[in-house]
Amino acid sequence: MTSQVFRPQQSRPTRPGRKQLQGLSRHRSRSRRSAEQPPGCRCIPLRPTTRSTNRPERRSSDQLLHDSYPPPKVIAHEICHSWTGNLVTNKTWEHSWLKEGHTVYLERRIGGRLFGEPFRHFQALGGWRELQNTINTLGDTSPFTNLIPKLNEVDPDVAHSSVPYEKGFALLFHLEQLLGGPDVFIGFLKAYIQQFAYKSAVTEDWKKFLYSYFKDKVDVLNKVDWNAWMHTPGMPPVKPTAKKVICAHSAQQI
Ligand SMILES: [Zn+2]
Repeated sequence: MTSQVFRPQQSRPTRPGRKQLQGLSRHRSRSRRSAEQPPGCRCIPLRPTTRSTNRPERRSSDQLLHDSYPPPKVIAHEICHSWTGNLVTNKTWEHSWLKEGHTVYLERRIGGRLFGEPFRHFQALGGWRELQNTINTLGDTSPFTNLIPKLNEVDPDVAHSSVPYEKGFALLFHLEQLLGGPDVFIGFLKAYIQQFAYKSAVTEDWKKFLYSYFKDKVDVLNKVDWNAWMHTPGMPPVKPTAKKVICAHSAQQI
């Protein structure tokens, strides 16, 4: 009986063939085209990095965190979609803020846990500025700047912008501040996700549940100008308060 000696095959570095190179160039040209999407698109393929990965200089761990692609906040965002987007889905595209607004909120809560509340507030300020830029571009009377736009006979891709992300986030951030702070509000979000798990919802479902969860704060909720937040174009009626003091470390992470 002969004993066989196992010799692992040596892996040789292979040079890419012409077809692979052609595929790469197609991918790159697709990335360039995707950079011309409407303002505020946040999907991974729509945000190609503009930074070179061939920098010879040494970079700090903070810079590596900042420069990595996809950025950590996008990874956090996509993971959060497991709950807000996949487990609980918006019934129609008019209610896409249920998916994107809640996901941006959770993404920023993760950022807050990792880097501190000033970081989360700084991101909130950046989101407000992004919303302002989008509304300046689309026009503050554009129906596509409504949190809940009417999309009858409208391709949802045409209406897509940062509005459901940042106006949705701003509403949730505002409610968090009205209703008792982040620890209280995260309890509502957990209950909302449990209530609508494996279901699809529209904004009215979400709002009814909000009122039932905060039944002892209905007077506070009744002061919210829901029509201005949801069915009126332009910037939201209230700018949520964001802490202005940020530490240098947090600012570096942005
Ligand atoms: Zn998203």
